[in-house]
Amino acid sequence: MKIALLAPAGAMHRYNGSFGKSLHYAPLTLTTLAGLVPDELEADIRIYDETAGEIPLDLDADLVCITCITGAAPRCYAYADYFRSLGKTIVLGGVHPSMLPDEAEAHADVIMIGFAEFTFPQMLFDYVNKSLKTRYMQGADYTINGRAMPRRDLLNKKRYITLNSVEAVRGCSLPCTFCAYPAAFGKTVHKRPVAEVVKEIEALHSKEVLFPDVNLIADKEYAISLFTALIPLRKKWLGLVTSAVGFDDNLIDLFAKSGCKGLLIGFESLSQSSQKLINKGVNKVVEYAELMKKLHDVGILVQGCFAFGADDEDQSVFEQTAKMAIETKIDLPRYSILTPFPKTELYQQLSAQNRIVERNWAMYDVEHCVFTPKQMTKEQLEEGCAWAWEETYSVSSIMKRLSPFNRTPWLALPVNWGYRGYAAKFRRFTREVMTDNTDIPEVKHENNLYRPSNW
Ligand code: SF4
Repeated sequence: MKIALLAPAGAMHRYNGSFGKSLHYAPLTLTTLAGLVPDELEADIRIYDETAGEIPLDLDADLVCITCITGAAPRCYAYADYFRSLGKTIVLGGVHPSMLPDEAEAHADVIMIGFAEFTFPQMLFDYVNKSLKTRYMQGADYTINGRAMPRRDLLNKKRYITLNSVEAVRGCSLPCTFCAYPAAFGKTVHKRPVAEVVKEIEALHSKEVLFPDVNLIADKEYAISLFTALIPLRKKWLGLVTSAVGFDDNLIDLFAKSGCKGLLIGFESLSQSSQKLINKGVNKVVEYAELMKKLHDVGILVQGCFAFGADDEDQSVFEQTAKMAIETKIDLPRYSILTPFPKTELYQQLSAQNRIVERNWAMYDVEHCVFTPKQMTKEQLEEGCAWAWEETYSVSSIMKRLSPFNRTPWLALPVNWGYRGYAAKFRRFTREVMTDNTDIPEVKHENNLYRPSNW
């Protein structure tokens, strides 16, 4: 049996888009799926991550399994339709099909809903036994314990800044109205046994580890156990947390002692009332500057993420945010536009107010506006976001943000340069470019909503 595992990408994040190698770490979805393929099937497995290379149209596979996020959904469907027309069996899974299985099933033989640790091997056995079902759903007894080892050996390592992505904790229980993660997978926080995580890290034989989990401190007690266990390994690690990390100086000390060198934090907005609107009360805006100082004092770099477009933000938000990034010396500011992913509370709110103006999922890449903002036009919001990227990644801004005492120049400089390249290409990604999938041969069918012929 030949299995191809595909992760199509939106135009901006595609291999030839605006994300350079310095911004790419090895994703875990495809490698984990590959690790779940039972040995007794003796399958030939190939991985195609479109952020790191092309997906060949002459794919040699019986079964094509596609993981799908919302911004890549039209492209996933285009590949699915095309490969299906060649007689291959198509499996669609991931965040978007988990939220909208009825939409996805028009393009696939099988839809996987939720986490696939148990359902993916079952689906493969059913395929072999010719008893394939049309849907496989994560069971209520799902556990992350004993999850398969990712098959990092199947990746093209030259295309990533690191292959050493390791999962520790999956999920987040916070109520942010815009977040697709709990909308797709629920609010349970699944924690891998610390000993399993440590064993996986030891087996990597690498000094660096990246935790791509959406919120490493979703369970603080677990985080304390994990990072205490990491101290003797003497690794350097990067990960994602909320600004709540600043509420506990002991936790920051533990992070530093365990080798933390960089954290991604969703600051979202400079306005506390915006935090309330998006239900991210964990963010205390008045404490941002102090948090930055605390983290810098122990040598931790910060990638600070902002999402423009909340109802109480006007056009002054762009300049204020770029200025604040310099004043607080955010090492890697990252800007996006608030995006109402389907099934999220934000989507329901904006939909009820008839403010969703874009239905092509390709535009839901968090850098384009898909709704009518309250205090500016859609165009002003997109222009302001593009301006903030360009301003923040000008050479003078980079120099002002990175202090001469920066303790992680080996990390800060190349990634700033990578984002400078991203900022320079930002405006190229017009609607025409974002929604263009004409490089994949079109297959006409009545449910194919994402082809120009059906607009
Ligand atoms: S803290 Fe992050 S991961 Fe958790 S719900 Fe909010 S945006 Fe999502």
